[in-house]
Amino acid sequence: MTARVGIGYDLHPLAEGRRLVLGGVEIPGADRGLVGHSDADALTHAIIDALLGAAGLGDIGQHFPDTDERWRDANSLTLLAEVCTFLEDHGWTPIHFDATVICETPRLAPHRDAMRLSLAETAGLQPLEVNVKFTTNEGLGVMGRAEAIAATAVATVERAG
Ligand code: MG
Repeated sequence: MTARVGIGYDLHPLAEGRRLVLGGVEIPGADRGLVGHSDADALTHAIIDALLGAAGLGDIGQHFPDTDERWRDANSLTLLAEVCTFLEDHGWTPIHFDATVICETPRLAPHRDAMRLSLAETAGLQPLEVNVKFTTNEGLGVMGRAEAIAATAVATVERAG
């Protein structure tokens, strides 16, 4: 068995008139949401890049270019499912994710279990194999001023042989 780890990072700006979706979960009552070509789910995007990195298969921009109308307002869980299938075609199986979301506001902790469940179900994992952590930027920088939300992730994948 060969195991590999990859890292991912993503950031999207916050703006009014957008839904706030993280880890495939729409945060109810959020007054602003993330701006991007897809649903701008920075947490799921960081995990996708971690998976692609672990398997040595490029990055999210190569597979889902923001010039492609197919991915406009796309549900990022759909992109995650496509990436998991792509990895399986190359013999890789995801076994673990760990992620940190850097978000000043709103408070995301009440939605942690829902995020773990939706990410795990999409990737064929158990919720205990998907860890999601939250932190603030202590009021500093674009995240601290709540102008953006960022996420980092690591993913572990394995391949037989
Ligand atoms: Mg992104």
